[in-house]
Amino acid sequence: MPITEWYLNITQLPKFDKTTIDYLDGLKPHQAIHWNLQTNKMKNYKANLLKQLVEIQEDRCAYCGLSLLRNLVDREHFVHKEQDGGWPEFMFTSENLFAACAYCNRALKGTAEVITHYSANYAECQFNLIHPYFDTPSNDLTFLLNNQGEAILVQSLTQKGHDTMLFFDLHTPIMTARRAAYLLEVERSTQLAANDYAELKAISHYKPD
Ligand SMILES: [Zn+2]
Repeated sequence: MPITEWYLNITQLPKFDKTTIDYLDGLKPHQAIHWNLQTNKMKNYKANLLKQLVEIQEDRCAYCGLSLLRNLVDREHFVHKEQDGGWPEFMFTSENLFAACAYCNRALKGTAEVITHYSANYAECQFNLIHPYFDTPSNDLTFLLNNQGEAILVQSLTQKGHDTMLFFDLHTPIMTARRAAYLLEVERSTQLAANDYAELKAISHYKPD
């Protein structure tokens, strides 16, 4: 991944079998309370959803791009679902669902409104923040290493990029430093994995005299 494209570009959607889709369709019209139904089918759907999202996003948060490992992970509704002032009709729309770290989701995003133009067809809605699936984030934001390599700086290229940067604290010194720390960690773990592999190979090829 080039540093300039630090922000996740999500191009895949989670997939579900017909039984699950029929079950979710059968609940229509959707209400926010459906999300917390204690049925096995709903529990399976949510577990399966999170598993797929984390895989698609390579264990990174849709909003800050930092690691979801060792973090509380939320199934996040980009357009929030809460009944009052929310859009429960998009609650099970795959294009509206992402994995996000608890900080981005709970402390920053909450039930903020992101729709600037509503359409009953989700794909035709317009949003004030970078949409993790519909938008190509590198059109709105770019990232670059500072001279010492201990920080990854963010720069907005558009108004939407600017608003997203401020909304998710991407410009703060702590996030700027955490991005570089994350890359360092990935580099180290890849290195460790390579060493482990070499050691494993040496053992498996070992023949006693
Ligand atoms: Zn995050």
